[in-house]
Parts: sequence; C-alpha cells; structure tokens
Amino acid sequence: MQPCEHLYPLLQNQRNIVITMHQKPDGDAMGSALGLYHFLKRLNNNVTVVSPTNWAKFLNWMPGCSDVLDYELQTQKSNQLIDNADILFCLDFNSMHRTKKMETILLGAKCVKVLIDHHEQPAEEHFDYGESDITKSSTCEMVYDFIVRSPYADKLDLDMAACIYTGIMTDTGSFRFSITSAATHKAVAHLKELGLEHSRIHENIYDNFLEHRLRFIGNALLYRLEVLYEYNTALMAINRRDLQKYDIQTGDTEGLVNYLLTIEGIKLGALLIDRTEERKWSFRSKGDFDVNEFARNHFEGGGHKNAAGGRSSENLEENIRRFKEVIKAYENQLT
Ligand code: 5GP
Ligand code: MN
Repeated sequence: MQPCEHLYPLLQNQRNIVITMHQKPDGDAMGSALGLYHFLKRLNNNVTVVSPTNWAKFLNWMPGCSDVLDYELQTQKSNQLIDNADILFCLDFNSMHRTKKMETILLGAKCVKVLIDHHEQPAEEHFDYGESDITKSSTCEMVYDFIVRSPYADKLDLDMAACIYTGIMTDTGSFRFSITSAATHKAVAHLKELGLEHSRIHENIYDNFLEHRLRFIGNALLYRLEVLYEYNTALMAINRRDLQKYDIQTGDTEGLVNYLLTIEGIKLGALLIDRTEERKWSFRSKGDFDVNEFARNHFEGGGHKNAAGGRSSENLEENIRRFKEVIKAYENQLT
C-alpha cells in the first residue's frame, strides 16, 4: 500500500468515489465514512457511501446519513456505482469479509482501492493506498488526520466535525479507553474550536432509545448473565425469544458487553447474541488478555486487543458449551 498522502492529487477532478465500511456500521464506521464523504464532496467529487447492511437508528441524525445506501436494499444501484467508481475507500475494517455480501464485488472492482483502518492484521494486499494504524483511537481520528494533513485542510467544516467526533467518542468509550491519546484530545480541541456542539452528539447517540431497550438490558443483567469466577470471566447469552419480546433492533445491543467488565476482578467479558443469520460474539478484556487473538483462534473474528468480535453458524447452546471449553486453556492468562 502506498501512503494516503500520495492520494491527494487524485482527489480533485470530479472523481466517482464510493466509500464503504463494515457491516452493521457503528459510530466510528458511519462517522468516518460520512466525515470523508463531506470532505470529498467539498472537493467536487461524486461521492456515495454504501453500507453493507442496515445500521442503528441512533446514527440517523448524522449529516449525510439519509444519502447512505443500504447494500442489501439497493444492491443493483450500489453495484453500478462500484463498477463505475474511480476510487473505493474502505473504512474501519481489516478484512473484506466484514462487508458480507459486498465482499465479492469489492474484491473484483477494478478501481483504485484505499484502506483507512485501525484494526489488527489488516488484509493490505487488496489495497493500492492506505493507512493501517492500531495505535489510533478510531478510524474517525485517522480521517481527521487525512483531512488536516492534506492541502485542503481549510475545507474541514462542522458537518465533518460532527461525524468525526461521533466515531472518536464511541470508539474511545467517551475518552476513557487507554487508546485515547494526546493527539485524540488535540483533534477534538480543534473540532471544538470550529464550533462543534459535543453534548448534543452525546445525547443523540446515548439518550435516544426506547423504553423497551432499557427493560431488555434489565432482563439480560438479571437472567442472562453468568459469572465464571474461576476464570475471571463474565458471559452473557441473549436468545432469540428475548430479541423478539423486546423488539430489539440493530444497535440496541451496543454497549451491553461493557457491563460485564464492570464486575470487580473480571478480565474477560463475552456477549453472545442469537441473530437470525448467525451467532454474533462481542469480546472485551482488561489488561493483557488479547481478545483479538482469542476471537481469531476460536470464533472466526478479530478486532483489537481489548475489544473484538466474532461469529459462528453453530447454535447458541453449542457456542456457550464451546466457549466454556476453550477458556480452560487460558486459565493462566485470566487468573
Ligand atoms: P463489537 O463487539 O463492538 O461488535 O466489535 C468490537 C471490535 O471488533 C470492533 O472494532 C469491530 O470492528 C471488531 N469486530 C467485530 N466483529 C468482528 C468480526 O467478526 N471480525 C473482525 N475481524 N472484527 C470484528
Ligand atoms: Mn473503529
């Protein structure tokens, strides 16, 4: 991959540009895609953001979100745009399979491909240009860097700032995770100087749920949590009945895994959700336990050292059984 700086001369001549991110985009994936979208549009390009799937309702306030295509609903239009693209940006994922049904068309696309991402072990071989930096708090911080290091840094505006702030805030757990650096705070200070209203963004993201979701969390904490003290591990498994009973939608389970690490002494939190199409794992750890490796080795996943995800086509019970089996081998690291 050539460094992203080499791209700047290519970005000004009404290029057809498609931006995509990982499936079920979170604040960082959507924020980085839309932050870059506004920037590239200001440089007079034809830009479209295509999400591989739907996304959480709490992201809909973001400037530009109503222009984002959902690949599953607008497949043909999205395929045409990708076929006609001069440049494709892939944001906030390390492996093409994280774009689900888009994987084949992305791999086959003939255009210039760019990766901007902060996950471990990125599949760099698919990209012409890019930046992969696991020391960055978020892909949004990387998009911020991409903009301010460019010859067009003066184009940074409040729409870009709101999108970028969203991903920095969500991926750093509101600035508490150790990945948060002085550079992260300096970037946000700059966004504030532009006039960013950060508390409105926090409310939009975190105070915008339905009553059902809160009751769902209450039920999950009461009845679906199992603490395996001998391994300093907390496990929560959400079955499909719960999802239906509380009408749980995309995004409603975000943040749930973080409760597990709030128990004193717990080093590994694992949340399993019985989605219709697959069983989805979220892993969080404190300290040295590497959930990226753990998810890669056992649950077809990956991510970061202290936050990773995975998947499985086995049923819920089989996943729980297998999880309890595999952590036995990590007893030394967890205790
Ligand atoms: P979450 O648990 O919030 O879904 O994901 C935690 C982190 O792991 C995020 O950075 C996310 O992008 C990444 N991640 C989630 N699921 C997967 C997966 O199946 N494969 C890989 N490689 N990364 C994942
Ligand atoms: Mn991210």
